[in-house]
Amino acid sequence: MKTLRLILGDQLNHKHSWFKNKESNCIYLMAEMRQETDYVKHHVQKVVAFFMAMRSFAEELQDKGHTVSYFKINAKENPQELSKLIQRTITENQIEKFEYQLPDEYRLDQQLKEICQNLDIETAAVDSEHFYTERHELANFFEGKKSLLMESFYRMMRKKHGVLMASNSNPEGGKWNFDQSNRKKWQGNPEIPHERGFRKDATAILEELEEAGIATFGNIPNNNLSWPTTRADSLQVLNHFCDELLVHFGDYQDALHTSQKYLFHSRLSFAMNSKMLSPKEVIDKVVDTYLENKDQIDISQVEGFVRQILGWREYMRGIYWKEMPNYATLNKLNNTNKLPEFFWTGKTKMNCLKHAIGQSLDDAYAHHIQRLMVIGNYALLTQINPDEVDKWYLGVYIDALEWVEITNTRGMSQFADGGIVATKPYVSSANYINKMGNYCKNCYYKHTQKTGEAACPFNSLYWHFLDEKKEYFKDNQRMGMMLNLLKKKDAKELEQLKERAQQVIENPDNF
Ligand code: FAD
Ligand code: SF4
Repeated sequence: MKTLRLILGDQLNHKHSWFKNKESNCIYLMAEMRQETDYVKHHVQKVVAFFMAMRSFAEELQDKGHTVSYFKINAKENPQELSKLIQRTITENQIEKFEYQLPDEYRLDQQLKEICQNLDIETAAVDSEHFYTERHELANFFEGKKSLLMESFYRMMRKKHGVLMASNSNPEGGKWNFDQSNRKKWQGNPEIPHERGFRKDATAILEELEEAGIATFGNIPNNNLSWPTTRADSLQVLNHFCDELLVHFGDYQDALHTSQKYLFHSRLSFAMNSKMLSPKEVIDKVVDTYLENKDQIDISQVEGFVRQILGWREYMRGIYWKEMPNYATLNKLNNTNKLPEFFWTGKTKMNCLKHAIGQSLDDAYAHHIQRLMVIGNYALLTQINPDEVDKWYLGVYIDALEWVEITNTRGMSQFADGGIVATKPYVSSANYINKMGNYCKNCYYKHTQKTGEAACPFNSLYWHFLDEKKEYFKDNQRMGMMLNLLKKKDAKELEQLKERAQQVIENPDNF
């Protein structure tokens, strides 16, 4: 039967069973489309990385003898509309069956279902064969339970997939979670190996984007993209992580530093989210490296990494499919402020934000704690509308796809879901930022000061936030201690803190 198979830009799974055999009766369809470049304004590195990876993938398929119909962004024949493209390809090639892989984003899932309803040929959706879990596995796991605790999901996943298990029910190392030992500040030692980057000439794609009038922001230094865009590149990044970085990953997972953007982080999120690497092969390689080097690599380094992928990544996907489409509208804390201009320039006197945002704008990358406890913390404390926060995160990061972006941003970081993902809001004063890194050392503001001209804005914002939201959180047991401290605050001091916080909120770009 003559079949058309659609491959979306984040479905670059070389190991998919579709590609096991060369099917002479099958056309693979891939297209760079405006609906994907324009749903938010993206960082140029993100658009280029996806297009480069898609093109390499298409070439590799062709080299293996598959028939691929590929439409570049500025091709005259590219209708820029998925339904038109599919319908036209079907008609022109007398296609009898249309197949697609289940997309990870709700909007594409809806769109493809609709397209299929309007086709008068047989259609089928198949698994993308990437994740450990099925779309609704998490929802089924938590059915009837009161809370959706990540830790219980994670333990089930460890047991089910036999990852880092000493026996059927006992975890390797005697503990499920080594989070407590994953909180070191990096102070110049141990030395951090240079990142495994690339120099991929992006000139041609950049010209095509300009020709097509695609609006992006940011740039690519010397037009050389440093992200992995092929499976071979992705495997190199994985090997580099296992050989050089894993040994200290857990220890410095939460560290912040002005001169180290990546620390011991893997930078594997783009390779995984585009599916050039599967989470299973990443975890297998990491666990094998640990087992072969137990005398050098401690379990705490490895467990911390496994938790991020087998735990958080699969958990976020499950939450997304359980809660969408309503999730995208949640704003439980009723936050309505606008995103400050400095999110687009990095120009602020607050050193932590200058570094974390500046780096995001330069490299389309920030690590987890920069995203959560610096940028996200500030956005929540200043009560920015989660729609605006979401758009910024979705546009700026190389790995930002809605299923994993929105659950992290709107959920974990902004508490806009009212506690589906996080049991309490991730907010802190300057104390945490100073404890985890050196941003405060050369900051214009004093991290110890709470009021006055030189006081760190995070300090007043923190108490202001608690005071503003105390009604909302009054029954949240995990907030009890913070709210008790708030109650004990001297009224005059609280008033001064709130005044200062209000100044920051009203004129964020002056700080
Ligand atoms: P490492 O620190 O080396 O971690 C290894 C891998 O674990 C990552 O590649 C990623 O696949 C996975 N991982 C770690 N934390 C998470 C998490 N919370 N949720 C899901 N997977 C996780 N990750 C995205 O892939 N896309 C996003 O759009 C995204 N947006 C985020 C927004 C906010 C506000 C926050 C707090 C986190 C977000 N994350 C997102 C999660 C995490 O920050 C990134 O996955 C990580 O920084 C990517 O860098 P890395 O590959 O060097 O990660
Ligand atoms: Fe950030 Fe405050 Fe520290 Fe400055 S003093 S780096 S603003 S936390």
